[in-house]
Amino acid sequence: MLGSTPLEFKDEAKLALADANLQKALAGMDDTFVAWRASAVERLPEFEALRDAAKGIKDHALANLDFYLERFAGNVEAGGGKVHWCADADAARAAVLAICRRVGARTVTKGKTMIGEEIAINEHLEANGITPVETDLGEYIIQLRHETPSHLIAPAIHLTVEQVGETFREAHRDLDPQRPLVDPGDMLTEARVKLRKSFLAADVGITGANFLIAETGSTVIVTNEGNGDLTQILPRVHIVIASIEKIVPTLNDASTILRVLARSATGQEMSVYTTFSTGPRRPGDLDGPEEFHVVLLDNGRTALLGTEFADMLRCIRCGACLDHCPVYQKVGGHAYGWVYSGPMGAVLTPGLIGIEKATPLPNASTFCGRCESVCPMRIPLPKMLRHWREREFERHLTPSRYRAGMALWGFLARHPRLYRLGSGLAGRFLGALGRRRGAFRSLPLAGGWTAYRDMPAPEGPSFQQLWAKRRR
Ligand code: SF4
Repeated sequence: MLGSTPLEFKDEAKLALADANLQKALAGMDDTFVAWRASAVERLPEFEALRDAAKGIKDHALANLDFYLERFAGNVEAGGGKVHWCADADAARAAVLAICRRVGARTVTKGKTMIGEEIAINEHLEANGITPVETDLGEYIIQLRHETPSHLIAPAIHLTVEQVGETFREAHRDLDPQRPLVDPGDMLTEARVKLRKSFLAADVGITGANFLIAETGSTVIVTNEGNGDLTQILPRVHIVIASIEKIVPTLNDASTILRVLARSATGQEMSVYTTFSTGPRRPGDLDGPEEFHVVLLDNGRTALLGTEFADMLRCIRCGACLDHCPVYQKVGGHAYGWVYSGPMGAVLTPGLIGIEKATPLPNASTFCGRCESVCPMRIPLPKMLRHWREREFERHLTPSRYRAGMALWGFLARHPRLYRLGSGLAGRFLGALGRRRGAFRSLPLAGGWTAYRDMPAPEGPSFQQLWAKRRR
């Protein structure tokens, strides 16, 4: 599963469906994230109005992206920080490494950052003799297992408690091997004790950013563990790595979006910690870093502006579309083969790495529309998935069998009498074959469906026949 690419989605999905541990780990999503969000939304009558306001803020910021980014950068520099403009992942990795080398860093603590995953910063630091230590509990667990996050906000959601216990027993060999490791609270305490030493030893702390605030030059992170605060306050140097679309004009705007973010992500009214960072430590401050850097990453985002995929740049990485997606709920995040998964990943990944390298992902959807219905930023995910499918078709990236099927369908659709005749005959034939038990357990050309569930047999008249009858 690890090390796969988006092109292997179908094979990885099959492996995921056969993985008993993964199925057990993912089984409770409807009772947790989905139920938590529903309850939080029910308690806030103005939630729908807040979604509109949040969408409006991001649309405005994206329409004036250059203005707000320059304003943000000016305010960071005025506060004593430094902004590093990075066109791609190579530039961002080089900027982070140069800072770490200049200050002689040996250990770097990290708060959770998906941009860190996007630019593969851990691998780059390790290759250059610097040890990165993940401090978010989920990220810490998967770092011990040499895995990547499988969810935007719950990186270890693919693991059972038993698997995490085994991981800790294997990694923390200095502790009693017979200790019980079944209670998540005990494991959290164990991780905290281990991480405390890294927090104190770190020369540099790296965090992501949920928002960049133009009017103050502040960066904002939301966490539930407080690890982000220790990551950015204790080391001498704080590096924020963030993509350009995280910009919002004002503190008020960030507050508005924060109200939909936590509710959509975890069903909380607010995350436990919302931390604003504005420049390095000033005279009189009790704590804070001596240096404050913001590594601003484009990596293909400006190319999406003005296209039919621009709405994707409103995403605030809440994870709600993953939680509610019937495909994600069964195959998890690793099957998608890149940093981002679920419906938002199926749209964003082709946008960032190219449809040629991500071609199966837009098809990893039933088009049920659940993702769009819960997205706090009202991102039309199914519509954009359809656009990607059109691009796949135009560029001949779809399998020839599929193209032949579509060509046949197109021909029949242009010849309605033939269509009616063919569909009527096929319906009658299949109905007669399957009516005895009501469903097919296998069907030629539909093995992808019948391998996992029965195909209902046609029953009675077709839609066209019913429609004709109704009109008569
Ligand atoms: S697309 Fe919407 S629901 Fe999905 S992570 Fe982004 S903001 Fe959340």
